[in-house]
Amino acid sequence: MAQLNLFNEAEPFAPASPVTKVIHVRDMDKYPDSVYIGRAGHGMSGAWGNPIKPGETCFICGEIHQAEETLGCYEIYLKQKLCEQEFRERFFALRGKALACFCAKKKGFSKNVICHGQVMALILDKESEGMV
Ligand SMILES: [Zn+2]
Ligand SMILES: [Zn+2]
Repeated sequence: MAQLNLFNEAEPFAPASPVTKVIHVRDMDKYPDSVYIGRAGHGMSGAWGNPIKPGETCFICGEIHQAEETLGCYEIYLKQKLCEQEFRERFFALRGKALACFCAKKKGFSKNVICHGQVMALILDKESEGMV
């Protein structure tokens, strides 16, 4: 599987035509195709939540991360999971949908990757270009 290098600043990954959106959960009712991707809670399942939690020992690298530092390890985790056919099919069914998380409220989305949803969207969109 090709490395995406989402966190390589010298050569940041940007899809030519992004199709998968990352939105704030408060905007879910504006997007009929929205899918909640935060952790379990708020009456919603956490099936797509980032399993690497800030302040806890990371099961990928063994270190303890601050919030955004989990994303490099989340990318590694996600790529490992994508080797499982069943997970892969469920994951790529998300392509083109609006992925809803809580991160936008804090900082707003920019070119910087701050939410695991952006990692998901980048990989989903890359798939559309036949690169994954
Ligand atoms: Zn880690
Ligand atoms: Zn998020």
